[in-house]
Amino acid sequence: MLENQIKNAIRDIPDFPKPGIIFKDITPILKDQKLCTDIVDALVKQTQDLDFDAIAGIESRGFLFGLMLANKLNKPFIPIRKAGKLPFKTIQQFYDLEYGTATIEIHEDAFEKGAKILIHDDLLATGGTVVATSQLIEKMEGKIAGYSFLISLDFLNGNERLEKYSENNLSLAR
Ligand code: AMP
Repeated sequence: MLENQIKNAIRDIPDFPKPGIIFKDITPILKDQKLCTDIVDALVKQTQDLDFDAIAGIESRGFLFGLMLANKLNKPFIPIRKAGKLPFKTIQQFYDLEYGTATIEIHEDAFEKGAKILIHDDLLATGGTVVATSQLIEKMEGKIAGYSFLISLDFLNGNERLEKYSENNLSLAR
């Protein structure tokens, strides 16, 4: 079963990048070409019937499968990046981290007003990053078509924070 294959392939790294965090390392998935193909196929199946115009992927691991998915579905891909990385004019969104704040950015011409955007990332933890991404898209007058993740860490309750943006919250593993 794909969910188990994904969970078995992900490597837990304790205390990275700081004490108390168990980091979910997806690089073993990337080494397994067959598993990557199966993941993209499953992401396509999960999302192909949703009504959306483009996929926004979150730096950096959201780029890996986000672009492959967009390409398979013949949709544009939009990179959401940390501050200072995108070269053209940007719109920004600040958000709180456990300690301190962070800023994400999108190009101001990434999509047309009213466009429906599917947000993709590798992993949903507390939901802070995707909530900030959702706020950024709404600031640009886009609509949130749904969320797509490889894995959701349900015990952190990030899902609840996404309910007010979209009922479509999809994940290949939990
Ligand atoms: P959050 O904003 O808490 O939902 O965190 C989600 C973002 O941080 C995603 O881009 C993840 O790639 C990354 N992330 C958070 N926690 C972990 C973790 N335990 N292992 C791997 N990546 C994580």
